[in-house]
Amino acid sequence: MGGKIARYLNQLIVGNVFDAPEILENYATDRSALKIKPKFVALPETTDDVRKLMKFFTQLASKDIKVPIAIRGSGLDEMGADLSSGLVISTEKLNRLLESDRRERLVRVQAGITLKELNTALSVNGLTIPIGGHEMETIGGLISNCPSDDYAGKYGGIRTYVERIEVVLANGEILQTGRFMGSTLKRKTKEKTAEGEICRKLLAVAKENEALLKTMRKTRVGLAGYPMIARAVKKNTLDLMPLFFGAEGTLGVITEVILRAVPIARRPQRVVATFDDFKMAEKFLDLANSLKPRELNLYDVRVIKGAEETGKKLSEITKKMEDGFVVLAQYDRKAKGCIRKIESVRKVLPKTTKLLVESPKNKPALDELCNSLTSFLHHTKAGERVPILTDFAVPGRNLGNFLRDLETLERSLGLDLAIFGSYAATNYHLRPRFKIDDPDFPRKAATFLKTGAFLIGRNGGSITGGAPEGRVKAIVTNDQFTEAEKNMYETIKQIFDRYDILNSQVKLGANTRSTLTHFRTTSSAKIMI
Ligand SMILES: Cc1cc2nc3c(=O)[nH]c(=O)nc-3n(C[C@H](O)[C@H](O)[C@H](O)COP(=O)(O)OP(=O)(O)OC[C@H]3O[C@@H](n4cnc5c(N)ncnc54)[C@H](O)[C@@H]3O)c2cc1C
Repeated sequence: MGGKIARYLNQLIVGNVFDAPEILENYATDRSALKIKPKFVALPETTDDVRKLMKFFTQLASKDIKVPIAIRGSGLDEMGADLSSGLVISTEKLNRLLESDRRERLVRVQAGITLKELNTALSVNGLTIPIGGHEMETIGGLISNCPSDDYAGKYGGIRTYVERIEVVLANGEILQTGRFMGSTLKRKTKEKTAEGEICRKLLAVAKENEALLKTMRKTRVGLAGYPMIARAVKKNTLDLMPLFFGAEGTLGVITEVILRAVPIARRPQRVVATFDDFKMAEKFLDLANSLKPRELNLYDVRVIKGAEETGKKLSEITKKMEDGFVVLAQYDRKAKGCIRKIESVRKVLPKTTKLLVESPKNKPALDELCNSLTSFLHHTKAGERVPILTDFAVPGRNLGNFLRDLETLERSLGLDLAIFGSYAATNYHLRPRFKIDDPDFPRKAATFLKTGAFLIGRNGGSITGGAPEGRVKAIVTNDQFTEAEKNMYETIKQIFDRYDILNSQVKLGANTRSTLTHFRTTSSAKIMI
């Protein structure tokens, strides 16, 4: 059957469909701890190709032949949200820049374009999309994961730059987003189209859950489920676009995006400070953060020392440091003024603190520091640092207490929980080593995830504060929803995807047993640094 379907689909679309095992192997892993081999991989070249694929698989599903579909950008996801046992639709050939308007700083792109490709093109006109993540992330992947990237504290993250999106719905119909109100909204809800039906039903969901949405608008919630419903429906207006932020490809396939770029800032000026403990670092972090840094990162010194073990030259920063933290701040506007303010507190900093303000002499050490995390993460001697508890949020006021809780957890689980992350974006990561060929690895990883999530929750944080749950974090989040939230989110999914074929085992559809059985037992063949 497989061969027949692949042949038929290759006749149907301009792009390519593969079912050869050696090709499928390339799409069986991403950056997560999981491995799930698909039966087909499709590389559409046009929105029309995507439309035909979705229409075909929805027709199959209407006859009870359900093929789960995952959309894949560059496969950098850390929670297994771009993997499928059925069809993977890869957007790697949907990567063109279609149109740009220099005066309005607007650009229209296909969703598979990477951040690097887009910013390289925009830089010709002195423009950029200021996202501090992995340069191979696609715009479609960024919208669908809506990460709190390292620049998000200042630049707000991908949501700030997206004006409109074009989406292919599960049934193959195409919609272009916009905020509808008054008579336009009335007309839209009367349309006999999938979009009309979605609008009608979403307004009804919002009405039914008015009180819940009101609370959600007041409190900072993570990205588990579809919390963006609270932004999609507001004050008798409706815009479907917010719902796709953090939706992880479960509501539709994003095919085109219109973004508004900003002028490129100057090359940032960097400052590094070291502290023997977090108490000492706290005041400095608040000062550095008040000066609006592009990046303000915090590293447990063990992360930097881990990079040193791989040969990174970081002694200028780590010498005489047993324990403690390293802070890296980058300023890209009014940098001289910011540096002056930081220099002015030098005399009141603890004697053991090293304060390095960027200079031609220490630039090599600062460049090494900026690359140290990659070395630390890929130093796979004695185990792999698979992402299990990453991209979680802990408010600054509770970080000290959380770090104390972590020390206890470290002792009880016997894991090295050296934290790193963005203080400005309140987005943190823990990447202990695991022996993934250990038959007990999945159970140990789940225990770490659950206990870590408990500590994050009790310190007012969210495990999906920096990125959504995918499959892995869903092990925890699916038990955390209230009945009302669960019902509302399941209804939203059902409204967009009647036959539940779009990434059906991600978010609310995730099944803990299935997730744990798909944990890899060997190192990932595909490491994208
Ligand atoms: C070194 C490194 C640093 C990273 N730092 C961060 C970080 O700080 N914060 C963070 O959150 N993540 C981070 N990531 C993870 C990753 O970069 C993001 O998750 C990113 O969004 C993935 O982009 P991608 O193009 O690879 O998407 P994929 O991983 O391929 O897909 C991500 C999700 O988006 C969906 N999707 C992709 N394209 C589309 C589309 N066109 N339509 C609908 N759905 C789609 C997929 O189904 C999946 O659910 C990092 C990864 C690496 C390797």
